[in-house]
Amino acid sequence: MTTVHLRPPPFPAFKNEPFRDFSEEVHRHAMSLALEDVERRRGSDGFTVRPIIDGVTVECEKKIERTDPSDTSNTLATIHLASLQTTERALFSLREGFPRWRARSSEQRVAILRRVAQAMREQKGFLSAVIVREVGKPWKEADADVAEAIDFCDYYALMAESVAHPQLTEKVLGEENSYFYQPRGIVGVVSPWNFPLAITCGMTVAALVMGNAVALKPAEQSSVIGAEFARILLESGVPSSAFSFLPGLGEVVGRHLVTHPDVAMIAFTGSRAVGFEIIKSAGEIRPGQRCIKRVVAELGGKNCIIVDEDADMDDAIRGILHSAFGFAGQKCSACSRVVVVGSAYEPLLQRLAAATRDLIIGKAADPSSFLGPVVDEESYLRILDTIQLGKSELALLTELSIPQHLAGKGYYVPPTIFKDVPTEHILWKEEIFGPVVACTKVATFEQALKVATDSVYALTGGVFSRHPGNIAKAKEEFRVGNLYINRSITGALVGRQPFGGFGFSGIGSKAGGPDYLLQFVEPRVITENTMRRGFTPDL
Ligand code: NAD
Repeated sequence: MTTVHLRPPPFPAFKNEPFRDFSEEVHRHAMSLALEDVERRRGSDGFTVRPIIDGVTVECEKKIERTDPSDTSNTLATIHLASLQTTERALFSLREGFPRWRARSSEQRVAILRRVAQAMREQKGFLSAVIVREVGKPWKEADADVAEAIDFCDYYALMAESVAHPQLTEKVLGEENSYFYQPRGIVGVVSPWNFPLAITCGMTVAALVMGNAVALKPAEQSSVIGAEFARILLESGVPSSAFSFLPGLGEVVGRHLVTHPDVAMIAFTGSRAVGFEIIKSAGEIRPGQRCIKRVVAELGGKNCIIVDEDADMDDAIRGILHSAFGFAGQKCSACSRVVVVGSAYEPLLQRLAAATRDLIIGKAADPSSFLGPVVDEESYLRILDTIQLGKSELALLTELSIPQHLAGKGYYVPPTIFKDVPTEHILWKEEIFGPVVACTKVATFEQALKVATDSVYALTGGVFSRHPGNIAKAKEEFRVGNLYINRSITGALVGRQPFGGFGFSGIGSKAGGPDYLLQFVEPRVITENTMRRGFTPDL
C-alpha cells in the first residue's frame, strides 16, 4: 500500500463559527428567550411569507399554511405562492439588475457577504429558533445550521478574494494574456428544507459574490426561514434588483426557473428524482435562450458505516446513533446502512439496540430532545410505510415507541433498526430520509467494502476500525465523496471538510470547498499584442 504524504493547505486558515454549548445556562436561557421571541413575532395568525421582487413584497392569490411539525395544531405561517407571472416579473427585474451587480467590484460584493455573516451572527438565536419551529430541528442542530450559513458567507468571501483578480497566464515579451472570470447571469437557486438556512444561504451567496443575480426558491416546508434570510440579504446591501425571493411550488416556480431562457444556471440541492428531471430539462435549448444552462445538483445518499472486529464499540455505537438518528435521519449524509464484520455483529447489534432505546424523542423546542418529528405529513406517511414494509419482509432489531403524550400530536417517527437485511432489498438500496437503519453481516473487511460501495450513490461513508491495514484499504477503496474514519459521518464543516458526492449523489464541486465558486463563473482570456505600432513597453 502506498503512503500518501499530504501537502499543507493552499489557502489561509479558515475559522469556523463556534457552536453554542447548551449545557451552559447562559446559552439555554438565550435560546428559550429566542423561542419565545419567535412565538411573539408569529402572533396569533402566524408569520406571513410573500415573494420579494425589487425589494417589494408581493401579494399572491394562492397560499398554503405551514404547521409546526412538533405540534400540528399550531399554525406557523401562511405562505403566499409565487405564480408564473410573479416569477416572470422577478426574472425581468433581475435581467435589468444583473449588469449593474456584475459591474460592482469584487471587494464590494465580498464586503456585503461579510455583513450578511455578521447579521446572521447577531440574530443567531432568532434564526435557530425559527428553524426549530418550522422544520422540527432540535436545538443543537438548528444552531449548527445557522453556524454553517455564517461559515458559507465568510468562506466564500475569502475564496472570492482569491479569484477576483485577473492573472497573467505567462510572462512573454510583446504580448499580454490575462485570465479572469465573469459571472454567468441569472442563477435559479432551488433549495431543500433539511438545511433550510445553511444550504439555501450557501448556494445563494456563492452565486451573488461572483456577480450573478439570484432568484431564490426555498422549499415549501421552510419558507419562513427562507424569508428571514432574504430580509438579511437585502438589509445587508444586496441590491434589490440582483436578488428576488420566490416562495412557491417546485412544480411551478422551480420548473419555470429551470426552463426559462433567461436563467443561465440552476443551483439545486434536493432529491434524486427532482435533480434528474432538472438536469434533463435544463439540457434542452429553448427559443430565446443564449447559453447552455449549467446545473449544479447535490442529491441524495445511501450512506454506509462499516464496523470491523477491531473497532472501538463505544465509538462505533455513538457514531452510528448520531449519524443515523440526528435530525431524525433527514440528512443527505445520514447513515442508513451498517455493515459489520464477523464476530463483531452480534455484540454490536445488541448494544446498538439498547442505546437506541435510550434516545429521547420529544418536541424540537424541548432542549432534552435528541430526536424531534419529521418535517411533514408526506414524509411521515412515507417513512411509516417503509417501516411497515420492512416489518413484513425483514427481521426487526428494535423500534422505539413514541411517548404517549406526543402520539398523534406531530409527525413523530420511531427510530427503527432492521437486522440481517439482504443487500438486494429496497431498504438496503433506496434512500429513506428518516430514522431507519438496515444492518447486515459479512465475513471479511474486503467484503464489507464491496457491499458498502455497491450503491448508485456515493455521498458519505464511515469506517470504525483500529486496524491500520483496514483503514488504509478503506482510504483506497471506499469511494465516496466524504469518508469518515472513526467518527460520525454527518456534520461536515465548511472549509475543513468540503462536502458533496458523485454517482447519483450529484454533480458539481464540493460545497464549502475551494472549487465551489468556480461553478458560478465563466473563465475568459484576453490577449493583447503589446508590440503594436512597433512599440514594446517591456523592452
Ligand atoms: P426535493 O427534491 O423534494 O425538493 C428540493 C427543492 O426542489 C424544493 O425547493 C422543491 O420545491 C423543488 N422542486 C420540487 N419539484 C421540482 C421540480 N419539478 N422542478 C424544480 N424544482 C422542484 O427535496 P427535499 O425533500 O427538499 O430534500 C431532501 C432531499 O435532498 C434528499 O434526497 C436529500 O438527500 C437531498 N439533499 C442532498 C444534499 C447534498 O448536499 N447532497 C443536502 C441536503 C439534502
